[in-house]
Amino acid sequence: MRIILFGPPGAGKGTQAKKLSEVFGIPHIATGDILREEVARGTELGKLAKSYMDRGELVPDDIIIRIIEERLKREDCRNGFILDGFPRTMAQAEALDDLLRRLNIKLDAVINLEVSDDEVVRRLSYRRICKKCGKIYHLMFDPPKEDNICDMCGGELYQRDDDKEEVIRNRLEVYRKQTLPLLKYYEEKGLLININGERSIDEVFNDIIRVLESKR
Ligand code: AMP
Repeated sequence: MRIILFGPPGAGKGTQAKKLSEVFGIPHIATGDILREEVARGTELGKLAKSYMDRGELVPDDIIIRIIEERLKREDCRNGFILDGFPRTMAQAEALDDLLRRLNIKLDAVINLEVSDDEVVRRLSYRRICKKCGKIYHLMFDPPKEDNICDMCGGELYQRDDDKEEVIRNRLEVYRKQTLPLLKYYEEKGLLININGERSIDEVFNDIIRVLESKR
C-alpha cells in the first residue's frame, strides 16, 4: 500500500497514519516529525526549518524533496509507505511523481480527511504531546489522568510552538493557498478519496480501511 494522507493541520493525519502503519506493517513518514527531530538535535537543517515552522510557513521545497527522496529509497519502504504532511505544494507533488516513476512504483490512494477550520483550531489549541513516546492528548476530550504526565509512559507533555492560536490561523491560510490546490491534481489522477474527518478516531479509521480494501 502506498498512501498519502491529506488534509489540513489537525485533521488527524498523524493519528490515522500511526494506526494504518501498524495494520499494514509499512512505515509512517511524516515530514513534520522528521523536521522536528532535526530541530531537537540542533542540526543546521533543524535551525533553518525552525525559522519557518515557528511562523507556520512551509519549509522550502528543495529541502523537503531531498528528505523524502532519501527516505523513500530506504529498504523499509519496499512494500509501501504512508505519507503524512507531504506533498504540500505542487512542486512537491510533481517531484514525488518523478521520484515514483524512477523507482517504478505507483500510489494507491490519496486520502483526504475533511475537517472544518473551527474544528482544527479547537483540536490544535488543546493538543498536547508526550515528549517521550509521542502520544497525543486533547486537554478537553482526551486529557491525561495526571496533569502534564503521559498515561502510557510517564513522559512530560508539551505543546508544539506552532499549536498556538495565531500560528494555527496562519497554517490554515498556508494550507488553503499552497496545499489545497493539490486535491484537484490527485482527483484528476483518480486517486482522491474524501473522508469525513470530524468523527471519532475509530469511525474515521474504519472508513479508511473500508475504502482501501475496496481498492485491493
Ligand atoms: P506538520 O507536523 O505536518 O503539521 O508540520 C509542521 C511544520 O513543518 C509545517 O507547518 C511546516 O513548517 C513544516 N513542514 C512539514 N511538512 C512540510 C512539507 N511537506 N513542506 C514544507 N514544510 C513542511
